[in-house]
Formats: sequence, structure tokens, C-alpha cells
Amino acid sequence: MNANYWNDQNSPVMPISAPDFMPLNHLQQLQLYRLQQLVKFTYERVELFRDRCKESGVKPEHIKKLEDISLLPTFTKTDLRNTYPFGLFATPMSEIVRFHASSGTTGKPIVVAYTQNDLRLWSECIQRALAACGLSSGDIIQNAYGYGLFTGGLGLHQGATDLGLTVVPVSGGNTERQIMLMRDFGTTAISCTPSYFLHLIEAAKAQNVDLRELPLRAGIFGAEPWTDEMRRHIEMESDIEAFDIYGLTEICGPGVGIECCKHEGLHIFEDHFYPEILDPDTLEPLPDGEEGELVFTTLTKQAMPMIRYRTRDLSVILPEPCSCGRHIRRIQRIHARTDDMLIIRGINVFPSQIEASLLSVSGAMPHYAIIVSRENNLDKLEVQVEFPREKFSDKISEIEKLRGQIGDAIQRTINLAVTVTLAEPNSLPRSEGKARRVTDLRNK
Ligand code: ADP
Ligand code: ZN
Repeated sequence: MNANYWNDQNSPVMPISAPDFMPLNHLQQLQLYRLQQLVKFTYERVELFRDRCKESGVKPEHIKKLEDISLLPTFTKTDLRNTYPFGLFATPMSEIVRFHASSGTTGKPIVVAYTQNDLRLWSECIQRALAACGLSSGDIIQNAYGYGLFTGGLGLHQGATDLGLTVVPVSGGNTERQIMLMRDFGTTAISCTPSYFLHLIEAAKAQNVDLRELPLRAGIFGAEPWTDEMRRHIEMESDIEAFDIYGLTEICGPGVGIECCKHEGLHIFEDHFYPEILDPDTLEPLPDGEEGELVFTTLTKQAMPMIRYRTRDLSVILPEPCSCGRHIRRIQRIHARTDDMLIIRGINVFPSQIEASLLSVSGAMPHYAIIVSRENNLDKLEVQVEFPREKFSDKISEIEKLRGQIGDAIQRTINLAVTVTLAEPNSLPRSEGKARRVTDLRNK
């Protein structure tokens, strides 16, 4: 056959982001169709799901409309631990091509699995995410998420490659080399945890490299909570645009949701990951606009489908359409998970509140640690904050003033007395992955 007979070169192609803009009624029809398939598929193949459905008297054929999802049982990390390692797999091992495991922030790791198709769809979501941040072929992305069992590295890697970006698979750590590569390769985007990027900012300064003068223009930051105040600090120090990417191992990894260029919440790729917000105590579904626990159903995953998985992350589904034109809904950026919440003298405190208020003080540094202890049966909250190097030469009274301002700002927000301790520059631990900023000594 004549090789020129079929020339596809100039034919229109479907942009990768097309599903983001699907009309809402089409999206909902697709979601319902996928949900019904998923429930049948999982009911037949996963014993725990079948047993839970039987306990609550629900059968796959009861799912007639999207809202019927609330008839289905919910699942938690404990279910993954109890069925460790392979108990929730829905396909034979011969169809599974990859394992990942959670970093185990909150205990023993959990294992997840992917078929070829699962990997393809995960890549699709990452591509849609990176495209929403304005990245395309020609961009050089330095992927500083950890490679290995953690989903961040390989997940981002595949999607970025498939989108046609040039990937620098540097993984986390080796900070000096990161700066060198960034400069020598002309990296235009970086993906890592926001706390690691803070560390990179400092390391660049120490190497006399001004990030603001490099081609670096976008940061894809996630895997841990961070605040708008932290975003402002990062953007000012590095002159990049910082995007919030969200995901969790149980659902696939990074790429469940992403901020678009409007930075008003994170779009969820809800044709694959159906979001709900539930009251964490009663498990009643909450209407869009109300804060509660984020729960996901993986509409298209085969190897290890998750139905109504309780993330423990607190968020709100934003009902208003986004001005970027995407129809897929958004969630408010996640400021905390339910198991992050500290109860100090009966008052609920989220570490993000402390981060936001301390960074609202001009001159305060974003390196901090939160220590909760108990003295004479009373909870005590201490926040250690590094003071800026420039202040070294300042009068004691200047430093004391800063300390007082930080203490006042935190106290105003959380309504609790706090001891602020100023730490020397560079003395608090730096993170290469997820930051651990809270030490709770009360139960030790
Ligand atoms: P682990 O649960 O062991 O930490 P994961 O790596 O799967 O393992 O972490 C997923 C969790 O990380 C999410 O449930 C959420 O709490 C947090 N997370 C991920 N991305 C973000 C983000 N952009 N903002 C806030 N928290 C995030
Ligand atoms: Zn948008």
C-alpha cells in the first residue's frame, strides 16, 4: 500500500484535556455507567466488598442513579491493612503489572496494584494535570518526588513522558545536585513536596544560585498539606508559579486532582475518581459547599478498585463552575486530615492554622516545628521557628519583637497560649519528602 495513502498528520486530534471540558450531563451519564460496571465487577471479584454489601443489604442492581452510591459501604485504610497484601485485588496476578505502597505516614504500609490499563489511565490523569498547569512538550520537568514504591516518582514520570515533556528523573534528595541540574539543564518545571522545595530554595542561596534568574517557571507541589501563605513565600523566593497536586496511594497516587491556572481549588478528574464529602462522624453525604471528609470511588480502576474510600482528608466540593472553563468539579485545597488534628486543652488545632498564621508575620521563616507536651496535667504548645539569618546581627529587642508578633498571630488564630521559641537558621530538620512538623509528646 502506498505509504502516503493514510496521512494522519494534519487530522484534528482530541486534546488530552478534552474530558475536563465534557458537558456536565455527559459527565454524569459516564460516571453512572462506570459506577454500575465497577460495582458489578467488584461485587463478583472482591470478597470483602461483597460481604459488606450483603451486610447492608445492597446489591449491584440497586445502583440506578449516581446518588445511589450512598447505599454502598465505605472503606478505610484499616480494611487495606487487614487484607494485606493482596486481599482487595480484583484481577489475577497475571494481569497486574505494578505494585506501589504507601509511605506509611500513619503506620504499616499498604500495597496497591495496577493493570496495564490502570497505568494508562493514571498517566492520562497526570497528563491532564500537567496540561492544566500549562506544561507541554518543550518543557523540562525535574521530577524530585521519590522513585520506588512511593507513587509520586513513577506516577509523575510516566504521565510527564507521555505528555511529551522532557523528564529529568532525579528523584528526591541530593540537593546540591538538584540545583546544578536545574541550572545546567534549564529545567522549566519541578515536581516535589512543597517542603522539599523550601529546602531547595535555601540550598540554591547557599550555592549563590538565584532561582529567580533560572528558566524554572512552574512547581507541581503535593503529597502533604501546605497553605496559601506558603505558596506566596515560595513564589516570591523563586519567581515560579506554584500548583497544588493531590493524590493518594489507595486511589492511584498523584493526579487525582490539580489546580488550574486560576488557583481557586483543585479540579478532580471525576470521570475516573468520583468524589463525595461525608460527615466523618455520621457518614452522611454532605451537599457541595460543606466541609467534611473526602471520599473517593475509583470509577475505572481494575486491579484494585476502591469504592467509597475514606481518605481522612478534610475538604469541600466547590459547586461553582471554574472560570477556566473546565466542567469537572473542584475541591478546596486540603488543609488537614482528620488524623492530623491536635486536640490541645480541648481545642481543635490543625498544623496548617499555625503555618498560615506564622507566615502572615513579615520576616518570619517557613521552617518550623510544633511540639505538644503535657506539664502538670496541662497541655503545652510550643512552636519553634527559625529566625532569618539577617536578624543575627539585629538587636535582641528586634528578635524579641518578631517572636512576640509570631506568638500573637498564632494565638489570635487558634485561641490558645503558645510558646514561640526562635531557633537558629538551619537548625530544624529539613525534609526530602513529606515533612514531619509535629511532635506530640503527650502519650509517650
Ligand atoms: P500516606 O497515607 O502513607 O501518607 P500517601 O503518599 O498515599 O501515603 O499520602 C496521601 C496523603 O497525602 C493524602 O491522603 C493527603 O493527606 C496527603 N496529600 C497528598 N497530596 C496533598 C496535597 N496536595 N495537599 C494536602 N495533602 C496532600
Ligand atoms: Zn479551573
